[in-house]
Amino acid sequence: MRICDICGQREGTLVDRTLKNNVQVEYAYCEACYKSLLKRGVNPQIEVDRIRKYNAKVCPVCGTTAEDVDNTLLFGCPECYNSMRAYALRIVAETQGATRHVGKVAIPFDLSKAGARSGYLKSDFSIYATSKDFVKRIFDTSELKIGGKRRFKTADECSENELTAPTVISSRVRLARNLRGLAFPSNMQPYCHNLDDELSGAYAASKGIFDARVRKICELDNSQKKALVERHIISLNLANNETNGAVIVDGGNTGFSVMINEEDHIREQCVVDGFDLQTAFKRLDAYDTNLMRNLPIAYDNELGFLTACPTNVGTGMRASVMLFLPALRWEGAIEDTLAKFKRSYGLTIRGVFGEGSEPLNDVYQISNSKTLGVDEKTTVAQVEEAVKMMCYCERVALEKLVLDKGNALLDDITRSYNFLTGANKLTYQEFSAEISNLKLGVILGILPKDLKTSQIDKLALLCSPSSIEIAMKNRLQNPSVLRAELVRAVLSEERC
Ligand SMILES: [Zn+2]
Ligand SMILES: [Zn+2]
Repeated sequence: MRICDICGQREGTLVDRTLKNNVQVEYAYCEACYKSLLKRGVNPQIEVDRIRKYNAKVCPVCGTTAEDVDNTLLFGCPECYNSMRAYALRIVAETQGATRHVGKVAIPFDLSKAGARSGYLKSDFSIYATSKDFVKRIFDTSELKIGGKRRFKTADECSENELTAPTVISSRVRLARNLRGLAFPSNMQPYCHNLDDELSGAYAASKGIFDARVRKICELDNSQKKALVERHIISLNLANNETNGAVIVDGGNTGFSVMINEEDHIREQCVVDGFDLQTAFKRLDAYDTNLMRNLPIAYDNELGFLTACPTNVGTGMRASVMLFLPALRWEGAIEDTLAKFKRSYGLTIRGVFGEGSEPLNDVYQISNSKTLGVDEKTTVAQVEEAVKMMCYCERVALEKLVLDKGNALLDDITRSYNFLTGANKLTYQEFSAEISNLKLGVILGILPKDLKTSQIDKLALLCSPSSIEIAMKNRLQNPSVLRAELVRAVLSEERC
């Protein structure tokens, strides 16, 4: 029995055949459906086409099937969201718990108004070199009052800034964007894809916003790639994409970077030191608006910005904050606290990994997990709220730690300090094993030299294997000796 294409239940007694693109297409209707469509003035064939498209399980543009997406959780191209509409809506609702985008709306792209697109290839890569001047600039402590140990403040005595400043390392906002009509990177055929178009549009959008420098992944050497990964500017995934991966870095050090052809065509981000998601968002939003003037960004009125993975659909935004939580670990409360926060805030909290798979000591990242049905401002506010609470918890744990284990703590910190300042050779493993204690010493104000926690964070970055490797270029030096020199210069009481 031929079933009615409209209701899918009764027998389709009225059969209709047409040639479409030289292929015979068949339509079948039951009498009731046929009559009701005509009554409403709807062409039955068009209605069946619409239903077939809506329920399709394969994208005619890129060939991706619903089964592929079930397996990888990645769509093949922006058009997949349209051509497998019912399936896409269902999987988005399942992963996001929401069905409708709120927040930033795409502006229509007008090719005639897109900015000038040339000149980006004249770029250099000097900004990640470690020079003595650079070290001096970071560790100039002239504005700090030296001498006089700080009295330890309890969590309730601390102002909001006093709670967040030692705990928050950096704040980051990232937006995922894709180009209409182009397969997502995981599904891309390298030979028919023009990387230069993507790059020149993303580059042109930086005009008046930041000092953009473009590099294709295949042009970077291994230590440059490692340095970018350690600084969270590119992911390991992108570092391995030699065929069509690229990155735009910020020569002016205002925190911008853009990954091209990572999981999405464009992943723009802005990172600022300390606790300031609002500034990171405001800066990035300006670039993002420019980007939409320069490239045709894939956007859907119902689902918002379209992304390779349905978990990013909507705002495409991830707002994240890096936190240093040593006292919670010392107190044995870190696992419980993290689990409690995940439950009560519905956010993602995870340990931060350094190069390779080594977790960075006591560093965690809090970020939003939903991108659909919640706008950008609300997302930032939710993450901020959780971060403030987490900082408060850390300070309470620190308070308890000082009361209960003050002497053991002091002993540990002093040993770490003496080890680091006394070493003539330091491997990265030796260095990173002590860095957490050292930073805790700074927070408690018990080191001989008055340092800021941000200076310790920067020292950690400068001592990473790739930074040392870059600093050593053209020098016959032992990396461990160079690292030890750097550490002594920063930590010993004499100014460097
Ligand atoms: Zn019917
Ligand atoms: Zn597709």
